Amino acid sequence: MTPAREIPKHYDFTEVEERWQRTWRDEENYFDRTSSRPRYIIDTPPPYPTGNFHIGNALNWCYIDFIARYRRMQGFNVMFPQGWDCHGLPTEVKVEEEHGITKNDVSREEFRGMCRELTARNIALMRQTMRRLGFSTDWSNEYVTMLPEYYGKTQRSFLRMFHRGYIYQAEHPVNFCIRCETAIAFAEVTYQERETTLTTFDFDGVEIATTRPELLVACVAVAVHPDDERFTQLHGKDLTVPFFAQRVPVLKNGAVDPTFGTGAVMICTFGDKQDVHWWKEYNLPLRKAIDRKGMMTGIAGKFAGMRVEDARKAIVADMKKTNLLRGERRITQRVGTCWRCKTPIEILSERQWFIKVKHEEILRAAREVKWIPEHMRTRLENWVTQMEWDWCISRQRVFATPIPVWFCDACSEMILPAEDDLPVDPTAAQPKVPCPKCGGTKFTPEEDVLDTWMDSSISVLHVTGWDGSGTPPLFPAQLRPQGHDIIRTWACYTILRSVALTGQKPWDGILVNGMVLGEDGFKMSKSRGNIIQPEEILGKYGADSFRQWSASGAATGSDIMFNWNDVVAASRLQTKLWNIVRFILPKIGESAERKGEITALADRWLMDRLSGTVADVTSAMDAYAFDQALKAIREFAWNILADEYIELVKGRLYSEGPERESAVAALSITLDALIRMLAPFVPHFAEECYHHLKGRSVHREPWVTFEFHDSDAREKGDVLALIVSGLRTYKHDRGMALNAPFGRLTLYTKSPLDDAGDAARALNAEVLWRREEPVLEKRVGDVKFNMGIVGPAFKGRAREFMDAVRKLPPDRLENPPAAMVLGDGEVTVPAGAFTPAFTYAIGGKDVDVVTFGDVIVAIERAS
Ligand SMILES: [Zn+2]
Ligand SMILES: [Zn+2]
Repeated sequence: MTPAREIPKHYDFTEVEERWQRTWRDEENYFDRTSSRPRYIIDTPPPYPTGNFHIGNALNWCYIDFIARYRRMQGFNVMFPQGWDCHGLPTEVKVEEEHGITKNDVSREEFRGMCRELTARNIALMRQTMRRLGFSTDWSNEYVTMLPEYYGKTQRSFLRMFHRGYIYQAEHPVNFCIRCETAIAFAEVTYQERETTLTTFDFDGVEIATTRPELLVACVAVAVHPDDERFTQLHGKDLTVPFFAQRVPVLKNGAVDPTFGTGAVMICTFGDKQDVHWWKEYNLPLRKAIDRKGMMTGIAGKFAGMRVEDARKAIVADMKKTNLLRGERRITQRVGTCWRCKTPIEILSERQWFIKVKHEEILRAAREVKWIPEHMRTRLENWVTQMEWDWCISRQRVFATPIPVWFCDACSEMILPAEDDLPVDPTAAQPKVPCPKCGGTKFTPEEDVLDTWMDSSISVLHVTGWDGSGTPPLFPAQLRPQGHDIIRTWACYTILRSVALTGQKPWDGILVNGMVLGEDGFKMSKSRGNIIQPEEILGKYGADSFRQWSASGAATGSDIMFNWNDVVAASRLQTKLWNIVRFILPKIGESAERKGEITALADRWLMDRLSGTVADVTSAMDAYAFDQALKAIREFAWNILADEYIELVKGRLYSEGPERESAVAALSITLDALIRMLAPFVPHFAEECYHHLKGRSVHREPWVTFEFHDSDAREKGDVLALIVSGLRTYKHDRGMALNAPFGRLTLYTKSPLDDAGDAARALNAEVLWRREEPVLEKRVGDVKFNMGIVGPAFKGRAREFMDAVRKLPPDRLENPPAAMVLGDGEVTVPAGAFTPAFTYAIGGKDVDVVTFGDVIVAIERAS
């Protein structure tokens, strides 16, 4: 294909982006399992298929795509897989809505089928947005966690970790969402400030304040601070719980805050994490007051079957009636809530499955990973260090990976399937052999399912080719990109699981991106109405402008506030670049592949600056500093190339001869390098330009390694660029057309530049370089008055004063007298009343003089 030279004036991003998306082939981005090139595997995040690929996803994926494209150009065998983390409650809720059913109205398998169908539709929608954004995804490495080939691996990892002693089943207090009706892990609890009522009441003669009076039934002790003298008489005594009559001990504990409430607190099973702590420490009995649906249990007497909030109101009403109520006031409280639905969590003691958290193992592997930015490692370390409870991995839901376990009805033995029998749904299949302990053949399946993080925390094992045995062939991956909001879940669990299953760190590096905030600076949310959809931006400015915005919005890891102006600026840079390309292409004509000799000063200067830019961009890309890389490209293209160099050599490009060839060669090298550096950021635009330049795809080209060092040219070229742009400004300021004849310019400098006539052509002037000092005749041309001083000082005589000043001899104008004669008297000359304006002449001819550094320029304007 010969390069197309017909290049439209206007860059139609819609047409260009759609055309290249149709032209590019998925196979071009496939990871090559047979290649011997160094591999670069990215453990990309599998998004939850909501059907909406939101702007936060888009930002993260832009980063991933910049890296994938850059590494490919550097010769790496890149894997940019795409996973879908399908399981979970939101899909179940959506299915119930869409079909007008609850999950219990149909069989588990039928319900799962409906969930899979909705998920598949949502994935298709999100794929579309991803394609519109121009990501170079490796679709041959797509994975879907709800499909048997994936969740079979999740089950395999469960068995492996069970056999290695990481997984156990136990009754233990867990965080429970009564709306989602499932246990959740501590990492899934988010804290929120809420208003609540603090109720003070008479507890067997002791005043106690609590925000959870309905938990009186679950009260197992009362605690006071050992040094709190108000309660000394209670030490060692028992108290009777109002309404429920159980006897509870009074405990002394230094952790009680004597300033909160009345200083005496109830210990209930369980109001909060502190209750669990004390319950264990003092080996207290367990009183379960709340069930999985958030209803009061049978031990609550007349309150049994009531919802928690109703029981709270009822019990406070009873306190009033029985004269036990001492006071009520509103307070704000930090409450743990379910991260998905924001319902306050309850702590329930439940039979659940857990993974042992081995803190040292996780911390050691985390330290072997390079964190970008570095401070994100601290977030993980802080989280891991304070993890007190093991990871609760069982969920009481349907659409999730089944826990592959049965229990023998006769002897309660736990039966696990063989790895070869996976995947398995124990509620739909039976063990293949009788109970090994008692020979029984009747089994009860485990109905609990696995936390979805159990699926996604083996993504890296999956993409590196894990078959369940030992360390996968391509393990560890080179990079994990992810948001900082899931460090304590996805990052932490992945490290935990990788160490447990392979003994190694999961990746060489982890790149943590920030969140996208709304234009108002707040997290985007429906309630704030500040959500921006990627499609809206794509429609108005195109994918490449969006991608540029992602790159330049903030340093990697920082949150980035969405701002339409930034997208407009990105689109403007694209227009500027298009104009540069449109100017250069016809000038270099058929010589795009021909390397002429670069001789002229300006050309060598450009090459030196280009070489510096390439080095800057490359080191920024290596450091994932996309904002820095794009800034360096922008400054080079806009300031150096367009504003300075092209203006300088334009005239030469319209001339003939070897010096023209030198400029053509420089431009051809520059354009090629510029487009290649742009390719990771604006793949459609770069592809379009490169086809005009070379007639082939820029995405198969190597990364730029251009080097050119010429310190002499750099120094002198800077001076030349400064002079020419300064003199162009001079023309502009005096209302001259930039291409109007300028006259004669004499440039006095110790080291005249051999500029190949560029300055003369660029300024349309006769340019003479002179090594000697200029002999300037200085004259006072005019006097400038400061009327702000002259007016108030002389009032009605201002004109008279000004006329008198104009008549002063030049040396008095330069050194104003303290007083002067005006009319028949003497007046004081206020400081700063006037300044002389000088004119110069050389050899009797009037000239303007301007200086640029050491260079003095005498201008004889054309008449
Ligand atoms: Zn919930
Ligand atoms: Zn048995």
